[in-house]
Amino acid sequence: MRVSTGNTSGSDSRTFTVVIESLGVGRPRRATRQLTVPFQQLQSLVQSVALRGGRLKIISVDGQPLAAPEAAAQAPDLPAEARGGEAAAPDPVAADPLPADPSPAKKAAVAHADVPVNLYKPKDPFIGTVIDNYSLLVDGAIGRVNHITFDLSGGNLHYIEGQSIGIIPDGADANGKPHKLRLYSIASTRHGDNIEDGTVSLCVRQLEYEKEGQTIYGVCSTFLCDIEPGAKVKITGPVGKEMLLPPDEDANIIMFATGTGIAPMRAYLRRMFEPAERAKNPEYHFAGKAWLFMGAPKTANLLYEDDLQSYLTEFPENFRYTKAISREQQNAKGGRMYIQDRVLEHADEIFAMIENPKTHVYMCGLRGMEPGIDEAMTAAAAAKGLNWAERRPQLKKAERWHVETY
Ligand code: FAD
Repeated sequence: MRVSTGNTSGSDSRTFTVVIESLGVGRPRRATRQLTVPFQQLQSLVQSVALRGGRLKIISVDGQPLAAPEAAAQAPDLPAEARGGEAAAPDPVAADPLPADPSPAKKAAVAHADVPVNLYKPKDPFIGTVIDNYSLLVDGAIGRVNHITFDLSGGNLHYIEGQSIGIIPDGADANGKPHKLRLYSIASTRHGDNIEDGTVSLCVRQLEYEKEGQTIYGVCSTFLCDIEPGAKVKITGPVGKEMLLPPDEDANIIMFATGTGIAPMRAYLRRMFEPAERAKNPEYHFAGKAWLFMGAPKTANLLYEDDLQSYLTEFPENFRYTKAISREQQNAKGGRMYIQDRVLEHADEIFAMIENPKTHVYMCGLRGMEPGIDEAMTAAAAAKGLNWAERRPQLKKAERWHVETY
């Protein structure tokens, strides 16, 4: 059967029914799911399935079977029929049962190969336009942290959750040379805060410290926190494959964040729980456990709190949120409550989760947080008769231990 699908315009009102196979994790198993999406969402669905090592077994248009476009599922591109060509007859081979799932590490390697990197380099950066820049803090907070959104239209800068972009601030350094780029974790999902694609958001803390009796402000963080909507900004990237989410909807995600380290976690949590994101990503409806440990000096410094509270209300079975507010809460010894104290408190549950091969751990924030978490994990492991110095490299090798500190 051949079906012409020549209408590819934005006003295309047809719906495509696809059967996705093999999105399971780890051990061999077949997962099959049928979805119906409008034409406008078909490309992102095909890309996403390909990225996750899955396969589109059948596509039908308005209920009429078209093809089994195995090749389309392998390449991040539209199937021929969705590009406006004619569909081939169904391929009986493609309809055969799938071979066993590849291992998580192999699947990750395949998926990582398709992740966009260095689309824009410092010599020829993308020029983005600031759409929004507002404070994330409330009265009584320490310092300055802003949420900044850039319009990416007119270029090819795209990214996925867990990546970073580079910003080259205007002006010159003390030697009269152009400033070097600084990296910032992306705080938005691939679809951007407006879920329409074509924007990127950052969560930036203004660096401020005292030196020889003078207050010094960081060059790029000040540039970004002060920037006005409409301003043009040099953007590079995206970069980074360390902090990517596993594609599996039933993975468990433990997150340790301090301060602006919440940025990639915000992207993950939006992808998992934001209603408009879930509607946009029918192939990724998170069904595992996500547990965020967040460290901040004061309650007023907690970031994206309203969103997190709404996820707690909407997804109590899937989202857990544990805060360490150092200047307001006390640890068991009567000292300040840091994130590592919370890790120790919940060591049993954390280790039980880590023993599950579907569990991934993400750490992001200031570099200083690493030794504390490591110490807590060492103590917690020892209490269970385990050696953290041995276990951590194993988790890293299995691509389940993800760290990005700065
Ligand atoms: P600069 O003007 O470059 O000043 C920094 C320099 O000041 C330091 O190199 C050091 O020499 C000096 N300095 C800093 N603190 C002190 C001190 N206490 N005493 C004495 N000297 C000091 N930042 C965010 O806000 N949000 C993010 O999401 C984010 N993500 C990142 C992701 C990655 C992968 C990396 C590598 C970094 C990330 N950063 C993030 C940090 C960011 O890249 C910049 O380093 C930060 O904004 C400071 O840059 P700046 O130009 O303002 O400071």
